[in-house]
Amino acid sequence: MLKIKNLSVGTANKTILKKINLYIKKGEFHVIMGRNGTGKSTLSNFIAGKEGYIKKSGNVMFNNMVLDDLLPEERALNGIFLSFQYPVAIPGVNSMHFLRIATNSMRKAQSKEELDPASFIKIFKEKLKLVGLDESFSKRSVNDGFSGGEKKRFEILQMLLLNPKLAILDETDSGLDIDALKIIANGIKNFQSKNNSFILITHYYRILKYLNPDYVHVLLNGEIVKSGDKKLALKLEKEGYSWLDKK
Ligand code: ADP
Ligand code: MG
Repeated sequence: MLKIKNLSVGTANKTILKKINLYIKKGEFHVIMGRNGTGKSTLSNFIAGKEGYIKKSGNVMFNNMVLDDLLPEERALNGIFLSFQYPVAIPGVNSMHFLRIATNSMRKAQSKEELDPASFIKIFKEKLKLVGLDESFSKRSVNDGFSGGEKKRFEILQMLLLNPKLAILDETDSGLDIDALKIIANGIKNFQSKNNSFILITHYYRILKYLNPDYVHVLLNGEIVKSGDKKLALKLEKEGYSWLDKK
């Protein structure tokens, strides 16, 4: 699904990601961990197509398409979804309308019939319940006045509705209490299938208790310095990252 080869990315005056190699097959669940400021969000943003990053080397293929050739919106329509580390509020944009239009754009791209408002509301309410948000959220503006935990639930709600092939979840578990964490983990698990892939960025082992990642990678100073399985995440939580620093 995603083939990242020798990828270096930066801004005009610095390199942030260095020679990243990451292959993600359909159905696989990958976790990326690493200190603050090591380039985890840069990698997510770059894949999603956020402007401001310059590719210095390498190439990225998504479902046999050259990623560079696709605009951010084309990436989304082809099934790349990014749950933002810091979701932005859009006052005045109703969350249910926003998600209906987004969902229908996705359906149109997949040659599926668009959902009329009544059918959408039904699905929307089901998914709201799944992420533990009450129906009043259908009347509110996108992320406007949402608490940290509500924003993260709303990100998962978007994922459930947009039905992406590759979901990148950038610290979706940060700042959540245990109940919210379980709901988010369940939302992910519910959606997980042999047809979609995940990149979950996290600082904590605790969400992985509920999930079964295939691989855990450590990003340090823009490089993937180690890959392993769930046990690696546990070791990192116990021992930190210093044992991985170059001597
Ligand atoms: P992480 O998500 O691992 O905490 P980031 O990818 O957000 O790290 O940031 C990695 C480094 O790159 C930081 O030093 C950050 O300031 C820098 N960086 C990220 N995005 C930009 C940008 N658009 N312009 C300049 N520097 C950036
Ligand atoms: Mg980040």
